Amino acid sequence: MNASTLARWARANEYNATIEDLTAPVYEKLRQVIPEIEWQVHAPYVAAINAFKKERNAIILAHNYQTPEIFHGVADLTGDSLALAQMAVSTEADVIVLCGVHFMAETAKLLNPRKVVLIPDLEAGCSLAESITGADVRLLRQRYPGVPVVTYVNTSADVKAETDVCCTSANAVEVVESLGVDKVIFLPDEYLGRYVASKTSVEIILWKGHCEVHERFTAEEINAYRGQHPGIYVLAHPECPPDVLDVADFVGSTSGMINQVGRVSPERVVMVTECSMSDNVALAHPDVEFIRPCNLCPHMKRITLPKILDSLESLQHRVEVPEDVARRARLSVERMIAIKKKPQVSSPSAAVARPGRKEIPHAPDEAGISQRTCYPEHRPQGGFSRGSPHFPDSQIFSRQNLDALATERRLTARRSQNQ
Ligand code: SF4
Repeated sequence: MNASTLARWARANEYNATIEDLTAPVYEKLRQVIPEIEWQVHAPYVAAINAFKKERNAIILAHNYQTPEIFHGVADLTGDSLALAQMAVSTEADVIVLCGVHFMAETAKLLNPRKVVLIPDLEAGCSLAESITGADVRLLRQRYPGVPVVTYVNTSADVKAETDVCCTSANAVEVVESLGVDKVIFLPDEYLGRYVASKTSVEIILWKGHCEVHERFTAEEINAYRGQHPGIYVLAHPECPPDVLDVADFVGSTSGMINQVGRVSPERVVMVTECSMSDNVALAHPDVEFIRPCNLCPHMKRITLPKILDSLESLQHRVEVPEDVARRARLSVERMIAIKKKPQVSSPSAAVARPGRKEIPHAPDEAGISQRTCYPEHRPQGGFSRGSPHFPDSQIFSRQNLDALATERRLTARRSQNQ
């Protein structure tokens, strides 16, 4: 069936026998979470999108937080941020449609500079990514010369370009420890940073960025679930506040949580994360009862089937990254991908006090500079001057105290000019 005809039917809300036949195998997977009456609205779009994918030699990458009709209906590859980044590298398609938020599409573009990368809605942002800019990272580097910067992939390409190595929630601890240093600037998620700090002896400098979805969960809410459903198994994402992680049975990334449900096969679970994730995982585990706390990510939910269809048909909205930024940002993502992840371990009490710091051996690199520093392109010119007498010493930074630091620097510079 011609893709344009299917698109016309979809926009006219036409559900007919042809569409029913074309989408019947997809609906079999979704029957448990989408009622038939609702499916008749989605099905024409699913048929048209799948036809356009063939016509354009396109693939759809969907994050775990996408709604089930996208995740199971039109996506070719699904996963968390790390999985999507890795999949983006190996695709043979000419066009990648990223069903997720803008930083994910940028990451796909960084790794596939010659492919067309589309995002169905340019406004699909992220509170975490928007909490920090490349200029903020440059100021932090001035505060901690030579200290490597590890950045969560939930950041703009501009921030990644100022970064030594990226990480995801699935590999953050491994990435931090892979550097062989005793101090790391970890950006931008404060709670993920605290979680990493609880798992490593590396000293962590934090940024006060939060995910607006995960920061809303509270320990009281989790305890209430336990009261209502005795024996429930609680899985939490490390972007949640520390008191939530304290009361969880398992702390892990989205992929870690999915694997853990498969490993433990609990009778009843609650996934303390974005709510579409529970819907998507529930389909793979029909014997497990999922209690669904509903914190929606408004940015992820900007992606809809009609927008995906528009995107594929008109090849919009193309994601572009300036070449100079892309070159530096790509390095930080490629370094992350090159780090082999160790198997994830269950963490019943993630935020427990950590033991005394262990000394991590380090060696000089090829230039004879200690590996206790950032990568060469981020090293300060003219050697290191560790610390700065002008800055107050704090381990948690935000735009406000960085602004204060920048003002302090300007005043100091002006004072020395006037002397
Ligand atoms: S769930 Fe949180 S971190 Fe993920 S895209 Fe939404 S706001 Fe950003």
